[in-house]
Amino acid sequence: MKRVIAIANQKGGVGKTTTAVNLAASLAATRRRVLLIDLDPQGNATMGCGIDKSQLAASACEVLLGEALLADALVPVEQSGFTLLPTNQDLTAAEVRLLSLPIARETKLRHALQPKREDFDVILIDCPPALNMLTVNALVAADSVLIPMQCEYYALEGLSALLNTVEQIRVAANPQLCIEGLLRTMYDPRNNLANEVSNQLLAHFGDTVFRTVIPRNIRLAEAPSFGKPALFHDKESRGALAYLALAGEMIRREEVADHGSNVRPPPPALAAATATTNGNGTGAAYAAPVSAAPGAEAGAGGTLVKDH
Ligand code: ADP
Ligand code: MG
Repeated sequence: MKRVIAIANQKGGVGKTTTAVNLAASLAATRRRVLLIDLDPQGNATMGCGIDKSQLAASACEVLLGEALLADALVPVEQSGFTLLPTNQDLTAAEVRLLSLPIARETKLRHALQPKREDFDVILIDCPPALNMLTVNALVAADSVLIPMQCEYYALEGLSALLNTVEQIRVAANPQLCIEGLLRTMYDPRNNLANEVSNQLLAHFGDTVFRTVIPRNIRLAEAPSFGKPALFHDKESRGALAYLALAGEMIRREEVADHGSNVRPPPPALAAATATTNGNGTGAAYAAPVSAAPGAEAGAGGTLVKDH
């Protein structure tokens, strides 16, 4: 597991915030020191942690603009055992101000995090549903990107845009940026289309797809209204257990990588992978070129894929 993980997908409603909050709680439950950064002006992760976003002394907005130190804006998330950089709608104004800066506007978050990086084992960034300057700041600050996806008709539309953005940022600003994994969210195995899209994801992206699947689960949907991760709302729920399993899978992958026992053929170029995600969004159109992708059978997703 990389230290700074951006949770990104420019589609809204795919489970980014749910993943950010519940993964933070699950990793904290394994005694890792976790920082969750809410980088969406909607402040859903802030609310989902039970923090009142109208009462913030300092927020991600001031931190990004260099008007407050990260340390002064952090708040502990009671009971859940992790730390939050909260946000509110002021972050929209911050983005506009960032856009007007002539230089270094993409590296604001990276620099703001620098003094605190070593204080945490994992830093998760909940990105907004757009490939905007906030998301670019997250990707420049991150070591890896976790992409939540719903296995539905339009799921693959936009994936190539996201992967291309990741590739551009890797080339231009952040050479070690890689894909942490694709996460299937809100999964309903009774849905034939979900199974079909899921199979295509596995066929195309192989090991880049987390084996853990997040089911559609009412406890995950209702936990934010209690201001808690599902783990503290109903720890036996399938949703809470799934995010614990995801944390376990990420930790195991990290251990395998650390022990160097994950030798496998070199992955195909990202271009090969992205070229096949043509944004059409239809299962059939997506599936057709996959078999033609060189090395696709090796089960890897591209040059950005880290060695798990
Ligand atoms: P995003 O941050 O990508 O916009 P959210 O995490 O806010 O997505 O999820 C969108 C909606 O779906 C929210 O109402 C959330 O509670 C709900 N939701 C997310 N994941 C699940 C799940 N696994 N099961 C049921 N509802 C979910
Ligand atoms: Mg969100």
